[in-house]
Amino acid sequence: MTINQSGWRPTAPEKGEPIAATFTGNKALMLEEALIFEIGATDTTGVEVAAPVTVASRLGGLDRAAPIGLPGLSEPETVRHYTRLSRQNYAIDLGLFPLGSCTMKHNPRLNEKMARLPGFADVHPLQPTDTVQGALEVIHQLSHWLVTLTGMQSVAMSPKAGAHGELCGILAIKAALEARNEGHRKVILVPESAHGTNPATAAFAGFTVEDIPATADGRVDTAALTARLGPDVAGVMITNPNTCGLFERDLKAISDAVHAAGGYVYCDGANFNAIVGRVRPGDLGVDAMHINLHKTFSTPHGGGGPGSGPVVFSAALTPFAPLPFVDKQGDQFVLVEEETAEDHHAQSFGRMVAFHGQMGMFTRALTYILSHGADGLRQVAEDAVLNANYVLRSLEGALDAPFAGSGPCMHEAIFSDANLAEGFSTLDVAKGLIDEGFHPMTVYFPLVVHGAMLVEPTETESKAALDQFIGALRSVAERAKAGDQTLKTAPHFAPRSRLDETQAARKPVLVWKDKVAAE
Ligand SMILES: *Cc1c(COP(=O)(O)O)cnc(C)c1O
Repeated sequence: MTINQSGWRPTAPEKGEPIAATFTGNKALMLEEALIFEIGATDTTGVEVAAPVTVASRLGGLDRAAPIGLPGLSEPETVRHYTRLSRQNYAIDLGLFPLGSCTMKHNPRLNEKMARLPGFADVHPLQPTDTVQGALEVIHQLSHWLVTLTGMQSVAMSPKAGAHGELCGILAIKAALEARNEGHRKVILVPESAHGTNPATAAFAGFTVEDIPATADGRVDTAALTARLGPDVAGVMITNPNTCGLFERDLKAISDAVHAAGGYVYCDGANFNAIVGRVRPGDLGVDAMHINLHKTFSTPHGGGGPGSGPVVFSAALTPFAPLPFVDKQGDQFVLVEEETAEDHHAQSFGRMVAFHGQMGMFTRALTYILSHGADGLRQVAEDAVLNANYVLRSLEGALDAPFAGSGPCMHEAIFSDANLAEGFSTLDVAKGLIDEGFHPMTVYFPLVVHGAMLVEPTETESKAALDQFIGALRSVAERAKAGDQTLKTAPHFAPRSRLDETQAARKPVLVWKDKVAAE
């Protein structure tokens, strides 16, 4: 091993050639694993169950005619199969996860410990509320933090992810317009750089989406946006900080113009990590914004872990917010499930989910908030922004950084494929990073930057970890600029080399091959 500037790095063996292949296909601790259908046998079972008593069938002739060929394995074989597969995953507990837009930060173990307390983990949503006062208090306290941090009037805790929160916010806007007899306002303006969920949400809720262009410095074209406002516009959906990693400095002016034209402002708050404790969206004229608890407030995600997307509302939209919500009456926490004229959800549009939302995520997020405190949350934003700028400035010489000239970035740094050698693309850089032992950054998003590479290091990475990542990305970028052909076939050290991703996306083979052959 030799050490270089960016940390430890293995070099080629000094004496003798490495062996080309092993009998097993394994490479030391990198273990080959076949599909469960290939290693399991239909007549093997991990459990022996006594033969069932014969009873007359009650399936009305719908009994299965033949065995379905499920593979069987013994218990240790099963455990090994899944453990081997799990080791082929990249994870936040293995290393830096640079995925831009995703805020893949470390999840403190304390959060897990709290979420697993039986009083939170084992409650049932239909339990009488006097038996779940503690759980309701968690929701109530978290609501208070979210409303305070955002400077808004109320919060709907039930949406189950960011995109679900968007739908919640847009439905409240729709209800508010209908209450004013202005249901004819059908257009939602969405900047070109928006996350794909924004236009999808607006369209799903029955609105027509119109694109607003970006300026050369990567921000919303305010002039184009205000010029489009009019009696058919329901509102705008703007991400701030935006998906180019930049703060939308004109948001207050945009909100004022939208309000003057009779519309509402939806802010996609998925990037709240960059401004938490520093900026209150309520002060910028936002009417509704979702917060991804599973981004800003840690909690595990990526790979399908549950999300949670509470939505904060302005005074204008609060009457239309969904039910239920938790309220404190005297010293009791109550669940308000129906709108009443007196409370602040008098014209509620209804419910987003059957119950109250993701209890486990609430507990994790509140634990995270309480363990940081108000000053700690502010520091989260500052460190996240500092880390992203460190990545941007360290790499701007190695990769094209289209907005580096517009000043500091927020929580994420964006690069493009502009100065790679002829025939080399962002995809090659991403694949090269896999060989370096990193999950690739977000690629080809946002669409406004050609061959975009979006890196969000988050605040939880140390300088040493950032330096190692920067060293790896610089090395791969330099190979791509020098036209190193070996990069075109990377990754070389992963269990499988370059896959045909177009084919995989267009013709996914989701059934085991023997079944496919039999059909
Ligand atoms: C993650 C994200 C979303 C969607 O959030 P989900 O929880 O994945 O539904 C929306 N907008 C932006 C900018 C995001 O980063």
